Amino acid sequence: MKKLRICIIDLIHNSPSQSLYRRIMFPNYISIMPQIIGVWCREEGHEVHYSIFTGSQNLKSLLVDKTDLVFISSFSYTALLAYALSNYFRSKGIVTVLGGPHARCYPEDACLNFDYVLGLTDKELLKDLLHNFELNNRPGTYLTAFSQPLSIPGVRERWEFIEKVHRQFSIIKLVSMIGSFGCPYKCDFCIDSEIPYQTLDPNMIREDLKFLIKKMKHPEVSWYDPNFGIKFNSFMDTIESAVPQGSIDFIAECSLSVLSESNVKRLKRNGFKMIMPGIESWFDYGEKLRFGSGVGMEKVREVSDKVNMIQNYIPHVQTNFMFGFDSDDGQMPFELTKRFIDLSPAVYPSFALLSVFGQGTKGNLKYEKENRIIPFPFHMMRSVHTLNIIPKNYTWEEFYILFIDLLKYSFSSKAIYRRYNSNYMAASKWITLLLSFTIGGAGKIKYLSDMLKNLRKEPDFQSFVKKEINYVPTFMIEDAKKDLGPMWQWLPNKSLSYNPNVISQSTL
Ligand code: SF4
Repeated sequence: MKKLRICIIDLIHNSPSQSLYRRIMFPNYISIMPQIIGVWCREEGHEVHYSIFTGSQNLKSLLVDKTDLVFISSFSYTALLAYALSNYFRSKGIVTVLGGPHARCYPEDACLNFDYVLGLTDKELLKDLLHNFELNNRPGTYLTAFSQPLSIPGVRERWEFIEKVHRQFSIIKLVSMIGSFGCPYKCDFCIDSEIPYQTLDPNMIREDLKFLIKKMKHPEVSWYDPNFGIKFNSFMDTIESAVPQGSIDFIAECSLSVLSESNVKRLKRNGFKMIMPGIESWFDYGEKLRFGSGVGMEKVREVSDKVNMIQNYIPHVQTNFMFGFDSDDGQMPFELTKRFIDLSPAVYPSFALLSVFGQGTKGNLKYEKENRIIPFPFHMMRSVHTLNIIPKNYTWEEFYILFIDLLKYSFSSKAIYRRYNSNYMAASKWITLLLSFTIGGAGKIKYLSDMLKNLRKEPDFQSFVKKEINYVPTFMIEDAKKDLGPMWQWLPNKSLSYNPNVISQSTL
């Protein structure tokens, strides 16, 4: 077979930007799968060029001369840029392939813009594609494996790609590792709830950790597992048998249910510096917290006590909340969260809005049947910012007002000052401060306040979020146009509209 020249592009942001926050943080949000695809392509004898786009790179530098095939990994909020790049590359005779969350959530829309769209991907599927692909395969072909791969290349095999990102872009040099796919919990908003829980080879993890401490002075590893530590003792045994305690700093997303005091002490001994438990809601999703049937203020007190205990051992604790669930009603969910902020002053709260991502989870069918999904342009589909279902128990205006009020409370000068003073690790203090003044706090307040203003003054926007019109309001199109800059001319569908009912009307 001919040796192919393959470009792999990991899209992390949807527009050019030189913002300080993005320059510091976004290179740490790279995905593992594009690097895995790169390793597998090389194992098949092909030449691979890997790059990331966080906003500060020149888009033209993402491609090299005489490329045969380009793989783009994209979230939904980077999908318009991905579509425009694909159209541009196809015009140059290059075959385009889309992977990542957008490909899994909106495969039919993606097929209108790419030659191939990949769902779950393993090495066999990739090898077949590399042997049989063609240009201008319109509409594109959707390919998916039955499950996540049973084994993947480790850090040693991915090292060249990791090092490139560290050398060229990173201020904080994190290394992403993964020990498991999927999650045993069934949170119906979460794409990982659809993937059966499966651990990866502990020997590979052990070898990777040993490799890392030889390559870096004091590595910082971010576990990419959707829910780290489900098999807690076996994971910790693996880490402890590989490297001396405290020789690596770790970050992980972890359910409160596994964070007993003895487990937290063990995490501390092994260098865990940041833990991100999901709380989500005071009225729902209690299973993964394992607090029995407590709801409301009872749950707030229990969670707060536990989180404060964790913070005694782990300096940076970020609790994840989500709003927009049907169980949210009135002011209570917002007021309870304020009480939690008061009771756990050192914790960094991260707030997201419920976003329904196409075929990401079967639970989305409920919203399709109720005709409640608003087709916000993909460009706006950042779950932290955009609620894209009609709230069940609020008007849009009520919802935005309550959510903005909570954000202002959580990122008031008083709350930021208490958080800064209660935190005992310098790096954590500064990261928390940076997040509060940028995307996590002030940036989010500004974005949502602008949405509220638009809701009040733009009749088209009011009609759009009530599903009274089926076109996208002009100001949203103008925003996307501005963000895409010169790539806008390559975007095929400039109306930004799409079918939101992708489960009930799927033909794949
Ligand atoms: S516990 Fe976390 S990873 Fe697991 S299904 Fe729920 S949100 Fe997803």
